[in-house]
Amino acid sequence: MNKFIRKTKGILEDVFGLFFPNTCMGCGRPLYRGEAVICSLCHFHLPKTYFHNDPDNPLNKAFWGRVNLEMAAAYLYFQKGGVVQHLLHQLKYQDHPEIGITIGKWYGKELNWASEFRYADLIIPVPLHRRKLRKRGYNQSQMFAEGLAAVMKAGTDTGCLYRKVHSQTQTRKARYNRWENVENIFALRNGHKLEGKHILLVDDVVTTGATLESCAQALLTVPGVKISVATIAFASS
Ligand SMILES: [Zn+2]
Repeated sequence: MNKFIRKTKGILEDVFGLFFPNTCMGCGRPLYRGEAVICSLCHFHLPKTYFHNDPDNPLNKAFWGRVNLEMAAAYLYFQKGGVVQHLLHQLKYQDHPEIGITIGKWYGKELNWASEFRYADLIIPVPLHRRKLRKRGYNQSQMFAEGLAAVMKAGTDTGCLYRKVHSQTQTRKARYNRWENVENIFALRNGHKLEGKHILLVDDVVTTGATLESCAQALLTVPGVKISVATIAFASS
């Protein structure tokens, strides 16, 4: 783009912004030129876990003895009433898929420095049941996956792993029930396509890890598959 067009585009964006200000999804303040979706200040203050650098991190440990993973990490700490909860709520329920993509790009850049993640071949989001997908219009975990794939070497796959049972929303259920509800609700089609692949399995938020564990169990039935897990947020249970 030449200098004139670039300058004109900048001015037009500024004028447009006067009438339709783009605001930060984290704090609601108007975004400056060059910022998108989440402002630099919110980005800077996000409660990062740095789990991807630490095999002894609490999320990875939570899977020990349950399912065989290479490594599990979450980008951010989930705090009730905090900015992460606010962002996830808008991503999931307020029709803002761009939040997932933005956060995916940020986290992907960090994961490219961690050996358990940078060599992943394929990124697979935890699938929604097709009925829920139709209702929401998009899968929030897939948006995160798209963001990761935009900066990592791996592509995404949403065709092989699917949710065969339309489960009721988990938040309304007693905690002990959550474990029973996710067993055997995921299945594979064309599983041979995944043979020998290192899969990065991703979700928006992880609490007990039961859903991810169930997905991983289904994926691990394919010969030669290795799995790492990455989520946007980690809520300690
Ligand atoms: Zn902000």
